[in-house]
Amino acid sequence: TLRSLRNRSFPPSSLISRFMSTLVVAEHEGGSINQSSLSAIAAAGAISEGNSISVLLAGSGSSLQEAASHAASSLPSVSQVLVADSDILTHPLAEPWADLVHLVQQKGSYSHIVSSSSSFGKNILPRAAALLDVSPITDVIRVSGPRLFVRPIYAGNALCTVQYTGADPCMLTIRATSFALPQMPAESKSHAAPISQVDLSTFSEVALGKSRWLKHTSLEIERPDLGNARIVVTGGRGLKSAENFKLLEKLAENLGAAVGATRAAVDDGYVPNELQVGQTGKIVAPELYMAFGVSGAIQHLAGMRDSKVIVAVNKDGDAPIFQVADYGLVGDLFQVIPELLEKLPGK
Ligand code: FAD
Repeated sequence: TLRSLRNRSFPPSSLISRFMSTLVVAEHEGGSINQSSLSAIAAAGAISEGNSISVLLAGSGSSLQEAASHAASSLPSVSQVLVADSDILTHPLAEPWADLVHLVQQKGSYSHIVSSSSSFGKNILPRAAALLDVSPITDVIRVSGPRLFVRPIYAGNALCTVQYTGADPCMLTIRATSFALPQMPAESKSHAAPISQVDLSTFSEVALGKSRWLKHTSLEIERPDLGNARIVVTGGRGLKSAENFKLLEKLAENLGAAVGATRAAVDDGYVPNELQVGQTGKIVAPELYMAFGVSGAIQHLAGMRDSKVIVAVNKDGDAPIFQVADYGLVGDLFQVIPELLEKLPGK
């Protein structure tokens, strides 16, 4: 069967597109759709013209209903919003959410299911794909056709074009920084997609998973979120201590930037690991990325090389970070940062 699938010729994309319908598994917070899920909606729009996009939102309480109204009224490309309201879905645990995606797919027979490559999407989509017996394509950075996608391999050093030849649904996680956010109309009155409740009557019995939600902790900081910031100021092992990172935090504050870190800085305990940028950390693509005391290992570059402008300060003129930097300064960061703080006094 595998061989016959592989050898099968596929209809031209114009024919396929008539049957396209995509389910976007979306995250929401405080009554709004998260930016990474907005990028997933943009990616769904790129799959084909006339693709009908349904957004699946789950959780419980008033913020879920607010997020549903937000998606229905402010995203013109969305044709339907599906709401799954249940206490079991309050927290994004993989087991019940994957069961939910399975249930919704059985009813909706979508040709594609898309989520972002955030912790949320990476947690849920592969499990849902296993339940649906298909192979997901992860970390997509470009949609070249309804079943043709580009994704990075070897820590971003090569790009691979993948043709999906499996059965429906074609399941994707997308890299949010590679898809521009959809346009929000100034006036929301012109568009209102229908909101439907997912029938969960058969759900509660199957959704008792093996994991339990214990607690949610997050840093109380006023700086922008690392994943969405326009400017990111990153420190590496060259900062030498948690105390010295405060210098970088001051610079970030003055620039209205988010703080990032290398894995070496995280492993040495200078900052918590949610600040890690790279292959095993966050992927960022800000307008400006400033790296201080960062050598530029490929695993770090994998998380920031798509930044629009890269500035590097390192006392070693041969550091690999200079190969990707638009502006490089060979110097001691303990002299450079105080000078920058003098010239950029901030608030
Ligand atoms: P170093 O390589 O030690 O570099 C420190 C730099 O600071 C040097 O270039 C030095 O010249 C400079 N310096 C020192 N003092 C000063 C000074 N006073 N002024 C100016 N410059 C100074 N790394 C990540 O960052 N993110 C990841 O997601 C990640 N994932 C990984 C996954 C795997 C599977 C593996 C094997 C590794 C991963 N790494 C990751 C680790 C990566 O390989 C590097 O070890 C790490 O990025 C190095 O961090 P660094 O540049 O801070 O430290």
